Amino acid sequence: MPCPRTKNSGVCRRALLRGAGALLFAPLLLGRGGGKGGAASGTAVHNTRLVLLGTTGGMTWWPGSDRASASQALVVGDAMYLVDLGFGATRRLAEAFNRGHFVTYKGQRTQLELSTFLNNVRAVFFTHLHMDHLGDYPTFLEIGARAGYAERGPLPIIGPGPRGRLEENHSGYTGAIIEAGCAGPGQPTPTPGTARMTDLLLQAFAQNFNDCARDEGYPDLTKILDVREIGDPATIPWPTGFTPPDPARAWTRDDTCPAMEPFEIFTDDRVRVTAVLVDHYQVYPSFAFRFDTEDGALVISGDTGPDTSGNLQKLARGADVLVHEVIDELWIEATFRGVKEGDPAWPLYKHVISAHTSTKDVGEVAASCGVETLVLSHIAPGNTPTSRLRLAQRNFPGRLVIGQDLLEVGIGKPRRGARG
Ligand SMILES: [Zn+2]
Ligand SMILES: [Zn+2]
Repeated sequence: MPCPRTKNSGVCRRALLRGAGALLFAPLLLGRGGGKGGAASGTAVHNTRLVLLGTTGGMTWWPGSDRASASQALVVGDAMYLVDLGFGATRRLAEAFNRGHFVTYKGQRTQLELSTFLNNVRAVFFTHLHMDHLGDYPTFLEIGARAGYAERGPLPIIGPGPRGRLEENHSGYTGAIIEAGCAGPGQPTPTPGTARMTDLLLQAFAQNFNDCARDEGYPDLTKILDVREIGDPATIPWPTGFTPPDPARAWTRDDTCPAMEPFEIFTDDRVRVTAVLVDHYQVYPSFAFRFDTEDGALVISGDTGPDTSGNLQKLARGADVLVHEVIDELWIEATFRGVKEGDPAWPLYKHVISAHTSTKDVGEVAASCGVETLVLSHIAPGNTPTSRLRLAQRNFPGRLVIGQDLLEVGIGKPRRGARG
């Protein structure tokens, strides 16, 4: 369903914004959604809004930072779509949206068991299968089952299919390879996709899930999840004449991120979602997503280097808001100062500079995408000072938002009568 869209005319400032960095970008922010008065509490002025749940990247909690790992919610009216569920995302999800179910009993306000604050989640999307994007997936499966996520029917979980081969061994690793069962006789599976990962998570937590079902009335998780894989080399709509990557040979970035047209992965009455491959070094498949709504379009880059063979630019054409990952250029320089090929730190250095986009490059990428608003997220390290992230503005003429957990960004016009 191609959704009609209107150009984003802005954005309104509804709430008191925190921090000097946020004040710089006040015209387009709605404020932090958590706690009292957040847009998620039902007082939002935009029909469509992005809620940043987690805004750091990598697998480390950075000292001095309370950012959760990568996760976003797109709210369109009373429907919600989740993109990635990194470490800490479910806590942020509850902070942003769970208003509880309170009653007055014997003169005292008390919380009744659980609220169904996730009953408007329409789908969950994973850009790729790294832990900083799915570390809270088991938690989400657990809390969501009682928080209503499948009240409307099976919940679509849309994520990468199996890669089918290991990455090249750049680090000289000699340890065991973990296998996720077998895809068939003699076919070990060291790179499972979203479906097998989900099956194995249910198995790993079987005691808990079975207890919850029999003791507490949890629903049948095997029936309320509708896992759909994308990115199978056999099914991606490759450009004409392109040969899908052959698992038997070494891949180059031409295999993992060839130039391609966006393809549809989900549609309902509120959104149309399309995807392209992006360049996350050896990580295949790794996707960027675009959500078209009646209020405007949002693009989420996922994890990527700056050169996506033009894919991100095609995906973002005409979009209003681009959420893009970023890594601090100064941190890269300081961390890998003097590192040369052959040094132990070389593989990590290669990954960092190839698989991610630095503060030096991200503004230029956003400018080439032609978006009005760039939201920096997946900020690595999470404790990078805001002043260094502002480097992104140097090559980007639009509006720059430095992401923080629970920050909300309106898309489209505010609702009639709302304060702007
Ligand atoms: Zn990441
Ligand atoms: Zn990643």
